[in-house]
Amino acid sequence: MATLQLHNIVKRFDDTEVIKGVDLEVNDREFVVFVGPSGCGKSTLLRIIAGLESATSGDIMIDGKRINEVGPAERGLAMVFQSYALYPHMTVEDNMGFSLKLAGVPKEERRRKVREAASILQLEPLLERKPKALSGGQRQRVAIGRAIVRNPSIFLFDEPLSNLDAALRVQMRIELARLHEELDATMIYVTHDQIEAMTMADKIVVLQGGVVEQVGSPMELYHHPRNRFVAGFIGSPK
Ligand code: ADP
Ligand code: MG
Repeated sequence: MATLQLHNIVKRFDDTEVIKGVDLEVNDREFVVFVGPSGCGKSTLLRIIAGLESATSGDIMIDGKRINEVGPAERGLAMVFQSYALYPHMTVEDNMGFSLKLAGVPKEERRRKVREAASILQLEPLLERKPKALSGGQRQRVAIGRAIVRNPSIFLFDEPLSNLDAALRVQMRIELARLHEELDATMIYVTHDQIEAMTMADKIVVLQGGVVEQVGSPMELYHHPRNRFVAGFIGSPK
């Protein structure tokens, strides 16, 4: 099980406050989407959760334990970025197993975990290939595979589909939903795309200017937007 709580998270870069006191509750196995316009603080908030950025103030809790001072590798999370950042000289198998290698996991176990993830993602026929011989969608699946092998308690996705064409994006949304079911995992997914948010989320967090405007299910946001911004952004009639 993995729950996440944010308590009054503030982030300042120099004199500019970009996250302005965010409170949030993510439940076990929930698919939570952070949505909002470019520059509203989505990536910063996700990086704070991942431990890649420290909060100026506030607390981050996983399963009730404060983890502000816990390093990114020890948080039990895995992040998938927009730019896949695969190692070009390594095969798909080595790309997927690399973090396990760094963690000292023995070769046979690495192999087993990579094959398991490859089977979930239908990457088995591609394990010997290098990234340059893959399509965009296949590369993105490898990036997701790198996260799966680590068996994280929470997956963090930062606009993972925005480099893909429209048709592939639709297909990958379906695959991610299937993955969420299959892995029984907690997932936090960042996007500026309202359609992605509405179709994928159990719970949507609408951000604007470093502030949470509203949290709710897609239906709640659509039928009961709290203000004009949410209504306009979600595209509801209010
Ligand atoms: P989003 O992901 O929603 O587009 P970001 O979290 O990337 O937004 O950025 C939020 C704000 O913080 C932006 O105004 C951005 O310019 C600023 N910002 C992000 N990272 C840094 C940084 N390392 N130094 C200074 N400002 C930053
Ligand atoms: Mg971003």
